[in-house]
Amino acid sequence: MSLLVVGSVALDTVETPFGRAEDALGGSATFFSAAASLLHPVQLVGVIGDDYPVDALNFLAERNVDLAGLERAKGESFRWSGVYSYDLNSRETLETRLGVFADFTPKIPDQFRDAEWVFLGNIDPELQIGVLDQVHKPRFVACDTMNLWIEIKRQRLVELLGRVDLLMVNDSEARQLSGQHNLSKAARWILDRGPRYLIIKKGEHGAILFTPHSTFFAPGYPLEDVFDPTGAGDAFAGGFMAHLAQSGRLEDADLRRAVVYGSVLGSYAVEKFSVERFKDLTAEEIEERVKHFHEMTVFELPVGAGV
Ligand code: AMP
Repeated sequence: MSLLVVGSVALDTVETPFGRAEDALGGSATFFSAAASLLHPVQLVGVIGDDYPVDALNFLAERNVDLAGLERAKGESFRWSGVYSYDLNSRETLETRLGVFADFTPKIPDQFRDAEWVFLGNIDPELQIGVLDQVHKPRFVACDTMNLWIEIKRQRLVELLGRVDLLMVNDSEARQLSGQHNLSKAARWILDRGPRYLIIKKGEHGAILFTPHSTFFAPGYPLEDVFDPTGAGDAFAGGFMAHLAQSGRLEDADLRRAVVYGSVLGSYAVEKFSVERFKDLTAEEIEERVKHFHEMTVFELPVGAGV
C-alpha cells in the first residue's frame, strides 16, 4: 500500500502576527510527508539545492519517509516567503525564488513506480502529468494546484483532471478554475472534467468532500492558538491520503474519515512554525482530536423525524 508524494521541498521565510521564521523547512512535499508519515510510510520525490540543510530532514527519514527520490541539484533551493494578515485568513506572497525548482523534472525511482496511492503536490501541471506517465498502475491519484497554474497552464490542468481521481483545492481556486462563484456549481463543473471526487478546503472554516453520491462537510478544528497557517493544506492532504492508504479502501465512510484525519493533521500544522509541531506529535494526540471531531459533529435527529 505504498504512498508516493511529488512536490516542492522549500525553505520558507514566514511572518505572522506572532513572529518570524527564516529559511524554515517548507514545501508541499515536506508538509505532506511530515503529516502523512505519522500514519503511514511515504515515498518522497522532490528537488533541493546544494544549500539545503539536508540533515534537517533526518526526522522524516527516521519515521519511514523514503528520500530516495529527493534529487540534489547544483544551485539554490526553492525559496518562498509570505506574510499573514492579523486574522491569519489571508497571506501575501512576498517572494518566490525557484532556484533548482525551475529545471525540475520529477524522476520517479524504479522502486517507487508501483505506488498505489499518489499525491501530486502543487507543481506545474505539465510535471504532474509527467509523474503519471512514470507510475505503473496507481489505485488512487489526488492532486493539488494553485492560482498561478490555473492562470497560465489551464489547458494542461484540465487535461490532468481527466487523469486523477481527486482534486484538492481551496475555495478561491475552485471558483477561479470553474468560473463559478457558487461552490456547488463549481464542484459540478470540476467533477464533469473527470475526477470522481473533489475536496474544497475553506481554511479555518473546514473542508467539503464531493463524491458522486454525496457531500460531506467537516468543520475546521476550533483552536485557541494558531501560530502559522503555512502548510495546513499540504498537511491536510498528508492526513487524508495516509488514512486512505492505511485503510486500503475507498468506500464513502473511508473517504469521510480521511477528511477528518486531514483536518486533524492540518490543525496540528498551524500550531507551530514550519513542520515543528509534527516532530513530537504522537498517534495518541491524533486519535484524541479525531474523537473530538466526532463528538463535535454528531447529533440526534428529533424523535419521529422518520430517518
Ligand atoms: P499551503 O500553506 O498548504 O498552501 O502550502 C505552503 C507551502 O507551499 C510553503 O511551504 C511553500 O514553500 C510552498 N509553495 C509556495 N508557493 C509554491 C509554488 N509556486 N510551487 C510549489 N510550492 C510552493
